[in-house]
Amino acid sequence: MRTVNIIPPQSGKAFEMNKGDLLTVIDPEGKQVSDMVLFNRADKREKISSGKTMDFEETILLTKGNFLWSNRSKKMMEIKEDTNGRNDFLLAPCSPETFKIMYNDPSYHPSCLENLHKNLTRFSIEIDNIPTAFNIFMNVQFDETGKLKVLPPTSRQGDFIRFKAEMDLIVGLTACSAEDSNGGFFKPIHFIVTNGKGVIKNIVNDFT
Ligand SMILES: [Zn+2]
Repeated sequence: MRTVNIIPPQSGKAFEMNKGDLLTVIDPEGKQVSDMVLFNRADKREKISSGKTMDFEETILLTKGNFLWSNRSKKMMEIKEDTNGRNDFLLAPCSPETFKIMYNDPSYHPSCLENLHKNLTRFSIEIDNIPTAFNIFMNVQFDETGKLKVLPPTSRQGDFIRFKAEMDLIVGLTACSAEDSNGGFFKPIHFIVTNGKGVIKNIVNDFT
């Protein structure tokens, strides 16, 4: 049985989790961002909320011990472990327009928004319902004036973050496609889902 699920560079996956399951997202090579979005499996209008999370957790830097909250003010996940410790929850998933507007690149470019949508379609989630993602390993820095800078991730080979599901979830996860977020080159992301007893769950997903 396959144990580690692999998200190839510049792609994504979507899968289900039960309340109490654990999700471990691993950076197998280092310096690779993974965008994560969450939906309540029972009512997909409920989804992860950057604003509610920062409000209730009273920080913009989420790590071990923090919860990720929904637009309906419910806990969706708890961060149980975080070996790197730097994640972003300010910036929206990179989209086709990101590369036209910020990179001045008119040609086709893969993006997290497209990869999330492609994989979430089988759960009937539309592109306009995809919220700001929790950007695992993303290194966004800001100064006292509020000026933002996207720097290469500080994550090193084998760094991981582990989440516990606080409700039944649909999860979208990517290996981010944006040059500036990933130190200029694209790597895979690995992940493992286990139930509360530590038994590894097989993720079936052919929508890369
Ligand atoms: Zn991205």
